[in-house]
Amino acid sequence: MLETAKRMRQLGTETAFDVLARAQELSTQGRDIINLGIGQPDFKTAEHIVEAAVKAFRDGHHGYTPAPGIISLRKSISEDIFRHRGVDVDPERIVVVPGGKVTMFFAILMFGEEGSEILYPNPGFPIYESVIKFTGAKAVPIKLFENEGFSFDVGSVLEKITKRTKLLIINSPANPTGGAVPKSYIDQLVEALVNDYPWVTVLSDEIYSRITYDDHQHVSLLSYPELEGRVILLDGFSKTHAMTGWRLGYAVWPESLVNGAIRLAINCHSCVNAATQFAGIAALNGPQNSVANMVSEFDRRRKLIVEGLNKLPGFRCITPSGAFYAFPNITATGISSKNLQDRLLEEAGVATIAGTSFGVLGEGYLRFSYASSAENIVAALARTLNLLETRKHT
Ligand code: PLP
Repeated sequence: MLETAKRMRQLGTETAFDVLARAQELSTQGRDIINLGIGQPDFKTAEHIVEAAVKAFRDGHHGYTPAPGIISLRKSISEDIFRHRGVDVDPERIVVVPGGKVTMFFAILMFGEEGSEILYPNPGFPIYESVIKFTGAKAVPIKLFENEGFSFDVGSVLEKITKRTKLLIINSPANPTGGAVPKSYIDQLVEALVNDYPWVTVLSDEIYSRITYDDHQHVSLLSYPELEGRVILLDGFSKTHAMTGWRLGYAVWPESLVNGAIRLAINCHSCVNAATQFAGIAALNGPQNSVANMVSEFDRRRKLIVEGLNKLPGFRCITPSGAFYAFPNITATGISSKNLQDRLLEEAGVATIAGTSFGVLGEGYLRFSYASSAENIVAALARTLNLLETRKHT
């Protein structure tokens, strides 16, 4: 057995990829699997975006680009941030990276070390906790409350902050809950950070900011001038533009951190694939109807799945305000999250993700991604009902 650095033992994973692999294995064996596990839009990338990449390849964009990204993409991102968040950002503060995850990795590496503490949402995207522990920092969970629409409660965030807290991770709208933090809570949090905790930097993961429903208005942490110099904005193209496989994301870094981020990029991946960056420009500057159509289709499915989940015995599901996940409470079924995930996949052919894949506070919940057709959703709900009823009678 080769002995790697101790930190390798701290590295977690994203079990959604394990479920995906198992679902694919079962499919290859001829089983009919409905996949509500994976967190990616079931839409194709819009044609004009694909064409821009093809053109870039044909035009000979085959070499390295500047590490933080080609300037025309960074300018387009800056304009897009102004359009959607009303904030003027110097393109020099923008670093283009291969996917949203890379910003997360860099930000946590910058602040995480033995003796430091990083606050992160739990249940939350599993990579936060994994990378925090990898750096040797203490991972301090922020509890999200179902009866608050899976928002945090401001008081319970603030009471976790100590002199050792270096970074606070916020994700709204959120994976896995679909919850979105109300503006009044963000206002209160910002006020406290400014007045009482000036040493804390915020990583705001806003990758689902364009996927919101009803009257929820996305509030960006970047739009608070009083937090200037302390917010790292994480966003990307994976979800909004249905580009998960392209690997394209970006961050706005505070001026004092941007050179560190570029250095990490140079040490890690040099730059993002050149043609993909041209696709990114087309995604931001081209027609937006594919985004609008996708979100309205998600909205239709959201209503369908929430209604269906609430009819299942032992299930209780609040209506999510954003992203494309429903996160029902399943405690009344008497089955643990992981057990129900496994039984649904193996016995009913429905892939979902156990709440515990998103942290210990996810016990009692199951994540259903509704990035799948309405027909699949209806069939998956029927299969789940069948499994629960059969269990009652056996
Ligand atoms: N942040 C959150 C909250 C996510 O759910 C995801 C992906 O599921 C990411 C970041 C990473 O996105 P990407 O695929 O662009 O790396």
